[in-house]
Amino acid sequence: MNLILFGPPGAGKGTQAKLICDQFDLNQISTGDLLRNEVKMKTDIGKVIDETISKGDFATDEIVNELIKNVVFDPIKKNKLIFDGYPRSLNQAKNLDLLLNSSKQKIDYIFFLNVKKDTIIKRIEKRKILEKRADDNLNTILKRYDTYMETTKPVLDFYKKDSGFNEIDGNQEIGDIFIEIKGILSNISN
Ligand code: AMP
Repeated sequence: MNLILFGPPGAGKGTQAKLICDQFDLNQISTGDLLRNEVKMKTDIGKVIDETISKGDFATDEIVNELIKNVVFDPIKKNKLIFDGYPRSLNQAKNLDLLLNSSKQKIDYIFFLNVKKDTIIKRIEKRKILEKRADDNLNTILKRYDTYMETTKPVLDFYKKDSGFNEIDGNQEIGDIFIEIKGILSNISN
């Protein structure tokens, strides 16, 4: 089973991905983490990424698609993938389709965590205290939200037609969101 967790930054995708991974023995694939790892390792590509992310802009599709390719073809993770923060553009969605087709996989479920801008701002402010992520300041948050609305909305429209698409109220508490997701997944996997 492969899943996509979809929603604006701060919607709780990472938190839910971890909970789902533990419960259903899946692998969380966070493009944010993959990108931050390149920055941490100070690779050539990492230096470019650092400048982009700290401004609140998206990394280029070329960079992200390349990082994702290794993961999709990893035989250990195959058919046990939760995409968190990917795809974020139509180009990425189409690329994912191609990669999955050529590795004989598909997406079974798409969860859209729909959350209000106010809720996101409050959550990221809280995360800033807990994790001190360098890209978390209010201007960056608002920029990230706007970039999401511009670039990712078409991706949402693309997946809305899919039979595995589920919209979840992301303003709920973490535990309640997870109960809702678990309910949908348990129906099919148990
Ligand atoms: P996240 O950890 O998912 O909130 O991502 C942090 C930042 O990494 C985002 O604001 C983007 O700048 C960048 N990023 C993460 N995933 C992607 C993606 N799929 N495409 C482009 N940029 C991404």
